[in-house]
Amino acid sequence: MLSYDEAAARVAAYAAQLHYCGIVQRVPLDQAQGRVLASPLLADSDQPPFARSTRDGYACRAAEASSHKQLALAGATRAGQPPAGPLLPGTAWEIMTGAPVPAGADAVMMLEHVEAVNGRVRLLPPRTIAAGENIVAQGAQARAGDELLPVGAAIGFAQLALAASCGYAQVDVFPRPRVAILSTGDEIVPVESIPTTGQIRNSNGPMLAALVAAAGGEPWVLPIAADAADALDAALAQAAEADLLLITGGVSAGKFDLVEPALARRGARFHFTGVRMQPGKPVVFGEFPPSATDLNQNQGPAQRCCLGLPGNPVSSAVTFLLFAAPLLAALSGRLDHGPRFALARLADDVKGKAGLTRFLPASCTFAATTGALPEVVRVAWQGSGDIGAMARSNCFLVLPEETEVLHAGDTVRILLV
Ligand code: AMP
Ligand code: MG
Repeated sequence: MLSYDEAAARVAAYAAQLHYCGIVQRVPLDQAQGRVLASPLLADSDQPPFARSTRDGYACRAAEASSHKQLALAGATRAGQPPAGPLLPGTAWEIMTGAPVPAGADAVMMLEHVEAVNGRVRLLPPRTIAAGENIVAQGAQARAGDELLPVGAAIGFAQLALAASCGYAQVDVFPRPRVAILSTGDEIVPVESIPTTGQIRNSNGPMLAALVAAAGGEPWVLPIAADAADALDAALAQAAEADLLLITGGVSAGKFDLVEPALARRGARFHFTGVRMQPGKPVVFGEFPPSATDLNQNQGPAQRCCLGLPGNPVSSAVTFLLFAAPLLAALSGRLDHGPRFALARLADDVKGKAGLTRFLPASCTFAATTGALPEVVRVAWQGSGDIGAMARSNCFLVLPEETEVLHAGDTVRILLV
């Protein structure tokens, strides 16, 4: 059985060779949040397009202003007005934030730093000013035609702002990968049902749909499948067109854990079946042979793959974050894959388990005081079926497999959600 690190490396290697060849969609900018750029974002002009004042104040020649002599006000420019000037020697020019600096000026004195009397201004001693202060030169951020964001950049608020600043009312994005979600188990009933004794509601389906959507995929929730070979075969056939198939339940070693053989019947080749981790030990990662349509179209992902996630909700969530999210990122055409880890300071001692990397629901206080690491504390849980513990956590504490105990005050890794 692979260690967590080995399994993560297999997924990363597989994700790295998935190349998205094919379709590009053009979407309005207000629908681009969470999508992935399929064409590079280019600067339509110099940024800024003119030397811009970053302050309300007076444009000047820095050397003259620093001598503290009185400078006659020669004019004024507001934001939105065209560049004015030139600025003659011995003069200053009233200017507002965002306005173009007049030719000849090389600095802007802040309003608060000058004495203004009778149409003349003077930089108050002992303050001096250097050339370039409070001015962003034309093209300092980018030159017209520069690539500002590469293909594969994920679009969030900052990327949207950049696209808007360059006049992109629409952007080219990759299609969202279609992720089939199949919950299995004789005991699993839909959320609308009142479970009879022995039954439980399907919480993994909605949870995985939310995780998939947050990771940029398009969730496709299939009906619950029973623990029976024919039911699984039918469900897997239905899911064949998905870019990624997520199955929960039925991957452990029990008598009715029939998912792995069902995947094998569809020709799956397994990269791993089980990982030395807790929760999530039975997790399965497989790859399907290309279908006839895949071979004909030469579009979409190079292969279709599947993850069998253990049915316990915390196991499903952890294995999704560690293994499914990177695959989904790669299938979306994103440049950056991989789960997100961070460092934190442990509040209390936590025991490890020999031979297993543990990922325990934990609560991290991110509003740390300056200079200190965020503090993380375990959330009490009753094992990997404890959805409440997970719902009260905001990260997972990582215990490497060789760890006997982590002590209060230790710097530890957390898996971000
Ligand atoms: P399994 O992986 O099939 O052995 O299931 C492990 C545990 O997870 C069992 O207690 C199942 O009842 C539970 N479980 C399986 N599937 C789901 C699901 N879709 N939603 C909530 N719990 C589940
Ligand atoms: Mg089961």
